[in-house]
This record gives sequence, C-alpha cells and structure tokens, in this order.
Amino acid sequence: LSFCTSLPKVELHAHLNGSLRDSTIRELALQKNLDPSLTKVLEKGDRTLSEVFQVFGVIHQVTTDHATLTRITQEVIEDFAADNVQYLELRTTPKDRPEHGMTKRSYTEAVIRGLRLAEQGCTTVVRLLLSIDRREDAAAAMATVQLAAELSPCVVGIDLSGNPTVGTWETWEPALQHARKLGLRLTIHAAEVYNPSETKQILEFRPDRLGHMCCLDDNLEKQFYDSLIPVELCLSSNIITESVGSFPDHHFLPFFQAGHPVVLCTDDSGVFETSLSKEYAIAAQAFGLSQKDLWQLSYQAIQHTFLSREDQQKLRESWNEHYATHS
Ligand code: IMP
Repeated sequence: LSFCTSLPKVELHAHLNGSLRDSTIRELALQKNLDPSLTKVLEKGDRTLSEVFQVFGVIHQVTTDHATLTRITQEVIEDFAADNVQYLELRTTPKDRPEHGMTKRSYTEAVIRGLRLAEQGCTTVVRLLLSIDRREDAAAAMATVQLAAELSPCVVGIDLSGNPTVGTWETWEPALQHARKLGLRLTIHAAEVYNPSETKQILEFRPDRLGHMCCLDDNLEKQFYDSLIPVELCLSSNIITESVGSFPDHHFLPFFQAGHPVVLCTDDSGVFETSLSKEYAIAAQAFGLSQKDLWQLSYQAIQHTFLSREDQQKLRESWNEHYATHS
C-alpha cells in the first residue's frame, strides 16, 4: 500500500455525496435530527446495488443546505489530496430542492465555493462533472447541461448515473447530444446491470468515457473493444454491490490484458470505505500487477482526463518529476 500511496494519481470517477467522511455524516445526522432507523442504513458491509441507492437517499437528507455542500466538497477534495490524488474530476448531481431554497445553480455554486476553498490548501487540480440522475426527465437533464456549459471551464463535462434499473436512454440522449455540441465532455455509466439494448445504444453514441461495463455479452464485448473508449473501473464498488463475484474475477483483468484503456477509480470512497491508493493495491494483489504496471496505469490515466492537452502535459511533467526523485 505504501507504494500506491506515494504514487501520484488521477481520480476520474468519484461521486461527491458518496465520498463523504463517516464522521461528517454522523455529525450532520445528529445536527439534522435524522431518524435513527435511517442512520442504520448507513452501516457498512456488503450491500446490493439497490440498497446502495437507499444509502444515497439518506446521505442526501443531510446535505440539504448550501453551507454543508461547500463543507463536504472541501473535505472530499482534502481527502483525495491527502491520498496523493494530483488530479480529481469530481462529479455531482445538481439538485432542485425548492423546499430547501436550492436550485441546480445554487447547489453547483455552493460546490464550487468548496472547490475554491480546498484549492487554497492543496496542489490537487480539481474539475467538476455535473451528473444527470437517471430519475430525471428530459427537461431536467437539459437544465443540467445548460448549467454545465455556463460554469465551464470549472465544469468540464457531464455524467449520466443513478440507479441503472431506472429510466430509459431515449430520455437523456437529446440532452447528451446537446452537451456534446456545446463542447462538454461526456462520461456514461453503462452495463452496471445487464441491459444489452441500452449498452448497445450507449456504445453507438460514443461517449468520451464509460463507467463500469460489468455486464457484457460476447457481442457487446466485441463492440466495446472495437470502440477503444476508455473505461473507469471501480473494483471495491463492484464487489461490495455484488455486480462482480470476487476481485480476481473482475473484468479489469481481461480489459487490461486486451490493452483496452482502463482507469482505476473509487466511485464512492465513503460508502465503500476505500481510497484510490487502496484500489491500486487491490489491483496489484488481485491481478499480479508490478509497480511498473501501477505507474503506467496512473500515468496513462492523464490522457483520459477532460483537461486540455496543455494541462495534461503539465500533469505529465509533475509525474515525471516524481519519477525522477523516487526512482
Ligand atoms: P451526488 O451526485 O453527489 O449526489 O452523489 C451520489 C449520487 O451518485 C447517487 O445518488 C447516484 O445518482 C450516483 N451514484 C453513486 N454511485 C453510483 C453507482 O455505483 N452507480 C450509479 N450511480 C451512482
């Protein structure tokens, strides 16, 4: 783990509300007088994917005001920085919550305030992705895209996420097409559950990156390999939610062996009690990766970021400096 901790890393798949510190959730739950039966849901352990979405429901009940959003954003960034994540693409779903005096815009601005505060205390470069939740309709998806374009360049792209058993691709595709026209980059959760027709549509849409890709049949696997679209892989998340049986069985290995571009990520470091260093260490152990492999995984992740070529080059220089001083 110490090698993985010292390695400079790129995190491309981290959901803000899934990355909260336990101590903060407990404190907020007390402050907001959360019903004890709800806090029980937050206890760790293996959970199915649908149980994980109940957990998010509870976390969302304690992150309802702007000051809290600013605080959690700052803390989450500090935690990634402490784990030697040098570039973080943090994603979150802007929420219209009139009962709390919150709009998608005010939500996102509160998050950006947290990002600015964190930037004062660390060297980690942070960009935001705005998520469309699969529960949202076409108009809400379009509103998120419009907001993302207005808040560029701090916001670099759009993510489609949420309970994979909810909603249909046709609902969000127009908003995603529009995002592409506006120059936003796109990453899409796909094949988290077996849904061949939707996975095919997503591959045909050709987002810039994919997330998960757990459940593929032979045809989809071929289409996916041919696409060469980089994929964000979250080992602990897939095991804990039982999307994959065990670490050695994880699809990381065939993807990696096929030379398909893969990026190790945490997904929800708070909910799944992990860190990016831990995910690298798990990969090393489960798939017999060498330190050189880990270094290359981290270095190659830079080209899959949604940064400009110049900014990617700056990151490479900082990786090279690290390499020169540590080898
Ligand atoms: P938020 O967008 O900051 O509120 O982060 C939590 C949200 O991220 C959840 O409500 C889901 O919509 C999404 N999310 C987190 N983990 C996953 C996952 O593994 N699959 C799909 N969506 C997820």
